Amino acid sequence: MRLERVRLARRALLAASVASAIALVGCGGKDGGKSSATTVAASAAAAPAATPPCDAEHRLTPEQTEGPYFKPNSPERASLLEPGMAGTRLTIAGTVLSTACKPVAGALLDFWQADDKGDYDNAGQRLRGRQVTGADGRYKLETIVPGLSPGRTRHIHVKVRAAGRPVLTTQLYFAGEPANETDGIFSAALAMDVQQEGGGKVAGFDFVLDLGR
Ligand code: FE
Repeated sequence: MRLERVRLARRALLAASVASAIALVGCGGKDGGKSSATTVAASAAAAPAATPPCDAEHRLTPEQTEGPYFKPNSPERASLLEPGMAGTRLTIAGTVLSTACKPVAGALLDFWQADDKGDYDNAGQRLRGRQVTGADGRYKLETIVPGLSPGRTRHIHVKVRAAGRPVLTTQLYFAGEPANETDGIFSAALAMDVQQEGGGKVAGFDFVLDLGR
């Protein structure tokens, strides 16, 4: 029931975001701003502002369990692709933001995930990599769509850390994945809308961190 309500809410927000898409450019939570669409649409009707209001209620990206397969010291790389690697190519891009909707420069993102068959590399660093956001707070990960691990829906692990702040450990999901319904860890707030592009897939996700100020 709860999942269904979340889905309905997301659908409503999506509709609102179409109407206010221009105002939302560059000021998104997840999925490029759908989460803030209602607020923006309402305030725009009341008093049009020269500067689009940044979402004061920007929701923090929820934490999730680390799981058993995190390894420290992953290589610094934005592409986890290797020659001959099986699987559908996937690019995830977005921005690390503060709750004040400011880009967070120098944030570390450490991704790890299963391969096309749902297996993790626990001996080496395959499909593991870290990168740091630039001045614009943006990141881009090139990888593959992970396979299904036993008991889990499709997911990608990530740790995000802004300088001097605690690490946010969470997971990203794929909207519309059938196994989302049966995975007790799945969170709709962490589900990416994934689009087909060329021979691969693309998705967007903005992380929102508490910078403590
Ligand atoms: Fe996992």
